[in-house]
Amino acid sequence: MIPAREALERLREGNIRFASHVRGGDAFLSHTRRPDLGRPQEPFAIILGCSDARVPAEIVFDQGLGDLFVIRVAGNIVAPSQVGSVEFAATRFGTRLVVLLGHSQCGAILATLEELTSPSGNHSRNMRSIVDRVRPSVEGLLATDLRHDIDALVREAVRANIRVATNHLRHGSAILEQMIQEDGLLVVGAEYSLDTGDVDFFDGAPGA
Ligand SMILES: [Zn+2]
Repeated sequence: MIPAREALERLREGNIRFASHVRGGDAFLSHTRRPDLGRPQEPFAIILGCSDARVPAEIVFDQGLGDLFVIRVAGNIVAPSQVGSVEFAATRFGTRLVVLLGHSQCGAILATLEELTSPSGNHSRNMRSIVDRVRPSVEGLLATDLRHDIDALVREAVRANIRVATNHLRHGSAILEQMIQEDGLLVVGAEYSLDTGDVDFFDGAPGA
């Protein structure tokens, strides 16, 4: 089992390679290890990220087959099935690092802000369930001066959504809370920049 800090360092190094247009040999050659991967998986990190096509976790962290346990959902929201997936991986595989990965210019955040400022009522019940998850973390921002600056508003809303979702993972599950206190589980919030390719581990990362 890889300790959380070491896992975080691996992700940091992988993202630095990705952002500087370098691919590590391990990730590049990981498909050759496929025949050995029939045994139980041992992902060194759990990533809960957005479904956005531009933010695939394995690529932005330069990792290969078998390295990451990834959950992706629009707006990187935390609903019961996401919490359950994190619990599953943490208890079953002993993975000690969880990263909640949001990103700049997130479409789900934009859609939520649009819905709050000019409700269309056009969303299906299913899509509404995503907007409703994002809404509590961003609607307070609309009462501030940020509402006059759409770019700054979206930037802050993305971060607020990441903070709330990260906190939900830390405190919305008795299993995860216990693992944080007793087993060295670390839950970190991070934002991927579409402009630079950098991941900023801004919430809860040691040494950040
Ligand atoms: Zn997104």
